[in-house]
Amino acid sequence: MKIIFINVKRALSRSGLPDLDYALNPYMGCYHGCIYCYARLYTWINEIRENWGEIVAVKKNLINVLEKEIKYFRKGVVGVGTITDPYQPVEAIYELTRRSIELLLRHGFHVSIQTKNTLILRDTDLLTKHRDNVDVGFTITSLNNKKSRLYEPRASPPSMRAYALKQLSIRGIDTWIFYGPVIPGYNDDLDTRTKIIELARETGSRILIDSIHVKKFMYNKNHPLHQLIPIIRNYPWKRFLSETIKLCREYNVECIPGFAEPSKKESTLDSFMH
Ligand code: SF4
Repeated sequence: MKIIFINVKRALSRSGLPDLDYALNPYMGCYHGCIYCYARLYTWINEIRENWGEIVAVKKNLINVLEKEIKYFRKGVVGVGTITDPYQPVEAIYELTRRSIELLLRHGFHVSIQTKNTLILRDTDLLTKHRDNVDVGFTITSLNNKKSRLYEPRASPPSMRAYALKQLSIRGIDTWIFYGPVIPGYNDDLDTRTKIIELARETGSRILIDSIHVKKFMYNKNHPLHQLIPIIRNYPWKRFLSETIKLCREYNVECIPGFAEPSKKESTLDSFMH
């Protein structure tokens, strides 16, 4: 992996996602290299976009910029890692996520973190101390480590994500699971859904669900999801969603549908959850 360094003018940006006032992304690009990742579409450095997963930019002046912004920005909820994973491996070296979160929490912001990496456990002390102003979501598309490796090659195995989720939950931190994207033939089966719902029940987490959206990069014939485009378009999403919500109710788990029925056209959402 290649690491580059960039300067930014803004640390916090307005978020287009529900329940978030701001978004903060300490890095640009993501080493995890998930095959379905939409983040590349919101990445303005071509080199990173075209070599997704191979190049990560470290925002070297991020903390200085954030220190200035938090003095005059209205307090609110900051989504940490909306277009990159904030705990991808470079974070072990540069600690931009930890330092940003520390600053935000000290100044009365709420942080909502989403990750697929167990490196977040390094910050258990900080998250526990500020648990009233923190929520943590793990993306768990499947609990099958082998299958996940094909779709999320360099993220922590889902069994480890489940372990981390339990560790944070038992410390009283508000936790949630992002079950998305749901990809026909990969993680839409009953067994996968049941295991994710059981984990949510065990950890007192709510579940957010999102379906796969067809994106331009999938039209490339060599893309692993290319063959699925017609299947995604004709998939019975409404039925899938109502069955899943029913299953959640049986387990007494809160289940929140995101964008469960993808548009027939390419989605124009300007924010996403990874
Ligand atoms: S989906 Fe998330 S974890 Fe995966 S490559 Fe994209 S930003 Fe990283």
